[in-house]
Order: sequence, then C-alpha cells, then structure tokens
Amino acid sequence: MAGEPQDDCLFCKIVAGHIPATVVRETDTTVAFRDINPQAPTHILVIPKVHYRDAATLAAAEPAITADMLRETGVVAGEEQLESYRVVFNTGSGAGQTVFHAHAHLLGGRGMHWPPG
Ligand code: C5P
Repeated sequence: MAGEPQDDCLFCKIVAGHIPATVVRETDTTVAFRDINPQAPTHILVIPKVHYRDAATLAAAEPAITADMLRETGVVAGEEQLESYRVVFNTGSGAGQTVFHAHAHLLGGRGMHWPPG
C-alpha cells in the first residue's frame, strides 16, 4: 500500500530504528539525521516517515507531510544556526539519487556555487 514501509529501504529502516543514524530532530511525520557522508560542514537529511520514492511523488500523495518536511529543513537550519543554506531534492539516478525514499538534503556552513554540479 502507498506510503507503507518497504523491507528493502534503508531510510524506512532508519525510521524504524533498525539502522543507526545520528538523529537531530524528530516529529510525528519526519526524521532529521546527519548525512553519513557529509558534503558540507552541516549536511542533514530530512525524511518523511512514510515511504515514497522521491519528493515529487511524496508531494502528489501527501502534500501536508511534504510541507512538514520542508518546514523541518528551516527549523533544523535554525537550530544549526545556518544563516544561508541549500535544500536539495535529488530525483532520479541521473541527478544523483541513490536512496529511493523521499528526502531533503540540508547543506550549509560553507559557500555554495551556482549552478550546482
Ligand atoms: O540524494 P541521495 O539519494 O544520493 O542521498 C542519499 C544520502 O543518504 C547520501 O548523501 C548518503 O550519504 C546518505 N546516507 C546516509 N546514511 C546511510 C546511507 C546513506 O546518510 N546509512
């Protein structure tokens, strides 16, 4: 059923507590944890507890939870005292998505270039 945990999903296992993660914040609908391979001094992933393959698919099915996820990026950025930061949704393997459970990358603590690579 749509949104249900998937046995083969790494982030569903983090949500369930079956794989360790450095969780910085949790709500009824989201979990935020430090990326295991940080690309900036602050690199935190904000994920929905429900399983959808990417952020746009989540948005189509669960707009309120998508808003929760986006709001949490701002809350965590505040807690991390980031004045500037970037939020990224890699979507599809060609764009660098490797975990097919919706997630927002929150990156900050260094200068950012545009366009991104
Ligand atoms: O956008 P993408 O799918 O590539 O992002 C997945 C992210 O999940 C990567 O940045 C990777 O470092 C992170 N990750 C993690 N903890 C794991 C496995 C992957 O933080 N156990």
